[in-house]
Amino acid sequence: MKKKNKNVDDLLIGAHMSVAGGLYTAFERADRVGCTALQIFTKNSNQWNDPVLTAEDIAKYRDAANKSKVRIVVSHDSYLINLCGATPELLSRSRKAFVNEIERCRLLGIRYVIFHPGAHTTQDRESALKLVSESLNYAHDATAGADVLTLVETTAGQGTNVGSSFAEVAEIISGVKNMKRVGVCIDTCHIFAAGYDIRTMAGYAATMKEFGELIGFGMLHAIHFNDARKPLNSHVDRHEHIGRGEIGTQAFGFFMNDDRLVDVPKIIETPKGDDGFSMDVENLNLLRSLVRA
Ligand SMILES: [Zn+2]
Ligand SMILES: [Zn+2]
Repeated sequence: MKKKNKNVDDLLIGAHMSVAGGLYTAFERADRVGCTALQIFTKNSNQWNDPVLTAEDIAKYRDAANKSKVRIVVSHDSYLINLCGATPELLSRSRKAFVNEIERCRLLGIRYVIFHPGAHTTQDRESALKLVSESLNYAHDATAGADVLTLVETTAGQGTNVGSSFAEVAEIISGVKNMKRVGVCIDTCHIFAAGYDIRTMAGYAATMKEFGELIGFGMLHAIHFNDARKPLNSHVDRHEHIGRGEIGTQAFGFFMNDDRLVDVPKIIETPKGDDGFSMDVENLNLLRSLVRA
């Protein structure tokens, strides 16, 4: 079969970058390591405060985006947001923060917001999954008309986190009213920690077959590329450099050469090294080297 994309320069790969010093500065960092795809937080990810973007912030961001080699930007929501929060206070706070995140993305022209579905804590899983769908419906209604998709990220199933199987992610999506506003982000470290063994071609094929059947490749708009520090089925979310963890290099080659994934941005969330960038260069070069001509 003829590959759709043979040119390494056309690959949509990149990294999560800091926005320290202003949102627009992420593009300088991305260009420095050769990203064509970029993930950012549009605010401090460990705080509830929602800074209002000024016209200047937006203009600087859009100007930097236009000048950069980055072709696609995704946002990751705050880690505090829990769309199946067990208390009314947490749930309402989470939903408001999520709506604000979508609004910031709309203003910046970012089309995808990646989020972790949340932790069910005291509720049963079933009710929690329903609550995530309802939270998405709430957020989509509150931001009607925005060309921003909310992408459910597959989780490692750490603690009481939901969304660690494709079946659970599919269940969340089945409760969403506006299918134009929802999609999925696969994280390689998370699915491996959740028990999907992608280390062999057979394991990779079985994993992707299940994904295709339960969710569908049309829903897949982003992939987080992280190797795993902990073993298969550990349910522990610890990222490792590409090829240096329990997953190993070969699995990333399967993803890089899968024709169904050519247009899906692949983004590393791995440590950057002491100088803040050289490990990104190394990880991205390794990924490029895996592409078969
Ligand atoms: Zn991730
Ligand atoms: Zn993770």
